[in-house]
Amino acid sequence: MTEVTLQGIGVSSGVVLAPLFALPDLTEAERRTGAPADERAALESALAAAQQALEALMLKEEGEAADILEFQVVLLEDEDILAPVFAAIEAGAAAQEAWREVLEREIAEYASGGPGDEVFAARASDLSDLRDRVLAGLYGRTAEALLPREPSILIARDLPPSRFLEFDAGLLAGVALGEGSRTSHVSLLARARGLPLVVGLGDLPAGLLTGQAVLDAARGRLVLDPSEDTLLRARESAGAQAVLDGKAAALAAKPAATASGEPVAVMVNVDHPSILESLEVETCDGVGLTRTEFLFQEGAPGEEEQLRSYGELLRWAKGRPVTVRTLDAGGDKPIAGITRDGESNPFLGLRGLRLSLADPALFKVQLRALLRAAAEGPLKIMVPMVTEPAEIARVRALLDEASAELEVEGLAQGKPALGMMVEVPVAALAAEQFDVDFYSIGTNDLVQYATACARDNGAVAPLARTDNPGVLKLIEAVVAAGRARGVEVSVCGDMASDPADARLLLAAGVRSLSVAAAEIGRIKAAVAAFGSGEEVEEGAESGA
Ligand code: PEP
Ligand code: MG
Repeated sequence: MTEVTLQGIGVSSGVVLAPLFALPDLTEAERRTGAPADERAALESALAAAQQALEALMLKEEGEAADILEFQVVLLEDEDILAPVFAAIEAGAAAQEAWREVLEREIAEYASGGPGDEVFAARASDLSDLRDRVLAGLYGRTAEALLPREPSILIARDLPPSRFLEFDAGLLAGVALGEGSRTSHVSLLARARGLPLVVGLGDLPAGLLTGQAVLDAARGRLVLDPSEDTLLRARESAGAQAVLDGKAAALAAKPAATASGEPVAVMVNVDHPSILESLEVETCDGVGLTRTEFLFQEGAPGEEEQLRSYGELLRWAKGRPVTVRTLDAGGDKPIAGITRDGESNPFLGLRGLRLSLADPALFKVQLRALLRAAAEGPLKIMVPMVTEPAEIARVRALLDEASAELEVEGLAQGKPALGMMVEVPVAALAAEQFDVDFYSIGTNDLVQYATACARDNGAVAPLARTDNPGVLKLIEAVVAAGRARGVEVSVCGDMASDPADARLLLAAGVRSLSVAAAEIGRIKAAVAAFGSGEEVEEGAESGA
């Protein structure tokens, strides 16, 4: 057999060499069926078992993970789902048929939220999990019995969040998924835990899903049936990674500096405040990016709710700066009721600041909450997807309006710095023309727009190279603008969270990085090695 390399989208970093564990498809199993009363009883007991298992998991989890599980428990009692299932059973259907049919209808409805509709896709994934859990109960099997016995790379078409949470962290060496996206619930959980995850691998070759494999999460690759040569290089790479991890743990508590002693700010990206529960603030220089989309998942939040949330971040940061990005809905982050339906290309449409400026009433609520929170600590406002200087002028005008209102209302407010995300190539090239107090480069979108490769499409991922000379020139242009205007240039895109990419950023003159919580130590180690002649190119030699 020759090795097979599957290319997908890397969600986190790390190279792992481990046996594959293919998640069994419960929907294939057989079951003996009975009269409607028996079928009803069988379904009720499978529902109760699923509920018990989810509640037991919920007790072990907090924050975002517990929220996802709670949502599933609520769905298990949802009459809109249960009534048609029990009606079908009364009419003579077997419990598994009735359950599967209704659940699949619901899943299809969520899944048809549109291409790239990640919130709906996440809901569809939660429902698929419920479908399989209850089916497992009906077939007399427990989902828990279907777990690997040794640390493995879990491989599946899709992985619902509750199944992910069920795995003992020590048994999960990595995860490889045929479907999924960087912004799904599982991606968020894996990134915060530092677990290597690759999504979007496409159709998985069923016959090859056993034996050893190499997962290179930074490069988004899975090598099945790896050759001796690939195994050797993967072991070397994992060894180099372990050395780096050792250095990282020692460096995490200290401020970052290059080998020549130049200080580099290492801040944290906050996708959801729950990641801060297990992060010591002393390990970072503040929050470089808060993705406030988490506040908008159940509808637009009010000013007081936002104020509370921003205040919590400031209290956690204990005097360190907290950069809060205004809503970046659209593109890969659609939000039901806020983003516009029917755009032919949502990545090039009304997203980020464009959408906020199109709905000034909604935007004003967030700006007022941010101005008020700035009275409590060093809060910085950052706006996403900026294209033209005129957009910044409009934001400043809206901030002035909001500030005047607060003044009249006698509410305390601060004077936060206003910065822009640089993610649109023309904004990078003309960065000095924008009247902002700081720049933060969003390399995820900058690379997508500069290379014309959608960030959620695994098929073009090999072309979306962070080391493309054109991408590096755009980054250098922003660094030059920052120097000319005497303002900070930070990077908060995923390049900052990858040790090899961070080295490229340092070489381009960047001295402020905002990274995923699990990567702080590793990035500090990469910073310390910069200029020492011992720079580590993580994963470069994995052969994957
Ligand atoms: C980016 O584009 O690099 C970025 C940090 O923003 P997001 O990933 O949230 O679009
Ligand atoms: Mg972006």
